[in-house]
Amino acid sequence: MYGEVVSASPLTPQLVRVVLGGPGLETFELGADADQYVNCFFLPDAAPYAVPFDDEAVRELPREQRPYPRRITVRAWDEERRELTLDIATHGDLGYAGRWAAHAQPGDRLQFRGPAGGYRPPADADSYLLVGDESALPAIAACAEAVPSGRPVVAVIEVEDAAGEVALSSPGDLEVHWVHRAGRHDGLDDLLAEAVAALPRPAGVVSAFVHGEAAETRAVRRVLLRAGIVEPERLSCSPYWRRGLDDEAWRAVKAAWVREVAAEPVD
Ligand SMILES: Cc1cc2nc3c(=O)[nH]c(=O)nc-3n(C[C@H](O)[C@H](O)[C@H](O)COP(=O)(O)OP(=O)(O)OC[C@H]3O[C@@H](n4cnc5c(N)ncnc54)[C@H](O)[C@@H]3O)c2cc1C
Repeated sequence: MYGEVVSASPLTPQLVRVVLGGPGLETFELGADADQYVNCFFLPDAAPYAVPFDDEAVRELPREQRPYPRRITVRAWDEERRELTLDIATHGDLGYAGRWAAHAQPGDRLQFRGPAGGYRPPADADSYLLVGDESALPAIAACAEAVPSGRPVVAVIEVEDAAGEVALSSPGDLEVHWVHRAGRHDGLDDLLAEAVAALPRPAGVVSAFVHGEAAETRAVRRVLLRAGIVEPERLSCSPYWRRGLDDEAWRAVKAAWVREVAAEPVD
């Protein structure tokens, strides 16, 4: 499946909103999860093919010609217009996804597989806690929109500075805490965890969605489980990326990391 860029514009200095449309999305179907993502293929300069391509066949090519897969959340799907919105983080000159988004022009094509997902705010929770950085902001925004009406929802979101904040909406009773990392060189792994630890303790059954940078999500998980704020089965915790590693290097160690985190004592 592939989409053609209808528009690409900065949502914040760190996030580019890309809207895809066109005939390549004819069969796209969104499932029920709020955090659905597509696995996008970003092409290296040396690619001797163009979108659409046979994604099985290109696996046989030399590494420098193969596409780079990156998971990106479906921020929105407009069923009527059949347009798919992705918010993609840029990180300077680094990263196939970030660079592609920063330079995307109407008519550019992006091929992907999916969607898939794993979390929808469950109806039987008393309140919701949504935590992450820019990479998880699209999923957090989509989850905030999917909570039951009137239910308390607290979002704790790390961005570079005030310019990185975006308006979120929710049928729930939404409270957003923005955490700024600008000027911080140490302790980045604990920024979100400290902000979460400082929140008033929510009453009742909490459903938590903690996605984003690996060490940061791990630190938040520790706070939530050790303080008994969230039951383990009510916590969706996913390390999307790892500071200092590109996605290829991260995926090579991710399974071991996830096992290590799951085995961590929480009491
Ligand atoms: C299920 C899922 C959903 C995701 N949804 C989104 C989404 O909607 N939007 C989005 O932007 N990302 C999302 N991500 C994260 C994204 O897939 C990774 O951040 C990916 O590494 C970005 O690829 P890249 O080619 O830009 O950078 P890479 O080539 O992977 O990395 C280049 C360098 O940039 C650093 N880097 C990577 N991501 C970030 C970041 N966010 N901030 C700062 N530095 C970074 C790396 O550590 C590395 O040093 C999602 C990940 C998962 C698993």
